[in-house]
Amino acid sequence: MTDPSPASPPAAVPGGDEGAAAKLAMAWTHTARFLTTASKLSELPVSELPEIAFVGRSNAGKSTAINVLTQQKRLAFASKTPGRTQHINLFEVGPRLAPDALFADLPGYGYAAVERSKKLRWQQVMAEYLEVRRNLRAIVVLLDSRLGFTELDLNLLDFVGARIGGGSVKMLVLLTKADKLGRRALDDALAGTQSTLAPLIGESADVGVAPFSALSRQGVDDAALWLHRTVAGPGVPAP
Ligand code: GDP
Repeated sequence: MTDPSPASPPAAVPGGDEGAAAKLAMAWTHTARFLTTASKLSELPVSELPEIAFVGRSNAGKSTAINVLTQQKRLAFASKTPGRTQHINLFEVGPRLAPDALFADLPGYGYAAVERSKKLRWQQVMAEYLEVRRNLRAIVVLLDSRLGFTELDLNLLDFVGARIGGGSVKMLVLLTKADKLGRRALDDALAGTQSTLAPLIGESADVGVAPFSALSRQGVDDAALWLHRTVAGPGVPAP
């Protein structure tokens, strides 16, 4: 684990400050637009663009986080329209004529009302995606800050653990709805999450854990910066 700290500042942008870099990052994430939807891995377009997947339990706040990060009211709710809830929804990011990244919104898991056979099929699709998707560069795991890691989240991480451990896939864990916790409880949640992760990942892993709130906007700029730098590199201020 090279960088488990939420507040750890990303490398400085030459000639700019963190505020300016965050603005650029938010302008970049704002370009996200729906590309396609797929019910299995083989339906996803093969791409050389770096891809960042958003995963989380149903109700963790994943759609809200994607919408606030892209400053679009309904982008991720496209993933909640009938016929798309159990799909991987892909968004293109960057200049229209020369996109430089893809965001993948993976279906929320753990929704009690879904029948078992469907759940199992979905677990398989996600497992395959996380293990095999070649251009996967990073995953953003959304956890409700009041729940932390549940068994379902850890099961899912198993599938991508080797790639994270080897350093080829980065991970950012966002503790969502941070506004619902006091400072002390939030610190405890961060520490608990980090200690759950520590034995799962090796020294080469690039993993961050940070509080996030769509309501108070805590962590929004930092998360956008993290996304941008995952794609553009630490010293590249603009997409
Ligand atoms: P998803 O199923 O993971 O996509 O979750 P949603 O984005 O639909 O959010 C689930 C519920 O949590 C909704 O009622 C949201 O309004 C609420 N929620 C999401 N983010 C926040 C937040 O930052 N703060 C608070 N207080 N509620 C949130």
